[in-house]
Amino acid sequence: MSLLKPAKYDRKSKVWNKKNVIILALFFSVLAAGASYVNEKRASNISNDIPGWSWILGGKTVLIDAGHGGVDPGAIGLNRTLEKDINLEISKRLQVLFTQAGSNVVMLREDDRDFGTSSKLLQRKREDLAYRIQTAMDTDADIYLSVHSNSFPDQRQHGPQVFYHPDSEEGKKLAECIQASLNKIASKKRAAKSNQSYFILKNTEMVAVTIEIGFLSNAEEEQKLNQTDYQQRLSMAIFEGVGNYLSEGHSVVTDD
Ligand SMILES: [Zn+2]
Repeated sequence: MSLLKPAKYDRKSKVWNKKNVIILALFFSVLAAGASYVNEKRASNISNDIPGWSWILGGKTVLIDAGHGGVDPGAIGLNRTLEKDINLEISKRLQVLFTQAGSNVVMLREDDRDFGTSSKLLQRKREDLAYRIQTAMDTDADIYLSVHSNSFPDQRQHGPQVFYHPDSEEGKKLAECIQASLNKIASKKRAAKSNQSYFILKNTEMVAVTIEIGFLSNAEEEQKLNQTDYQQRLSMAIFEGVGNYLSEGHSVVTDD
């Protein structure tokens, strides 16, 4: 299918309008659902931008990789929250948002599972990562979002943070756009950071980032990460960040 470009905006305005209506409807339902917790001003700061750029996500392929799963719980929170569960929650919310914006969404997992078969855990983890990378390659996605939650010995650390591979200029731009949106709702403003050690980021050709959505080792943030309204706000912020990245002319897709 042909990829959507700004030049086609007028001709297909009906389609965009429909999408905008969906996005707006979603926005208002988010606001309503989160009214008791959400600082309304902050929420509207995020969502006001959506109708302006949502068209750009149409036709883009977005690969969403909910980190860990199955035998691998990932980080374990102070109050026993499992990273794999929170990652999946956010990933599913992202799936809804990108699908409604007309993107092709590929989910690496949609339930509690891993992709290894070995009985030895380390080997199984390797198989799992190899599967994720192979799937990413096969998908040939425009954007690869790897969703994780953080943990750190210093329990005071909190706030979401986005990582990119130092060799990827586009990865850096995408990470900075997502970080800027996350900082609007985050308890602590952080800077996007390069990181060589994320296996997935250096083994993919597409514009890839790893989003650490918060620290399960911080009691307050762990609690927030379990709240559905905060999960939705995080997802909206990530969604907005990707849209801002693409609309700033950093599209990885060439004209047809
Ligand atoms: Zn993780």
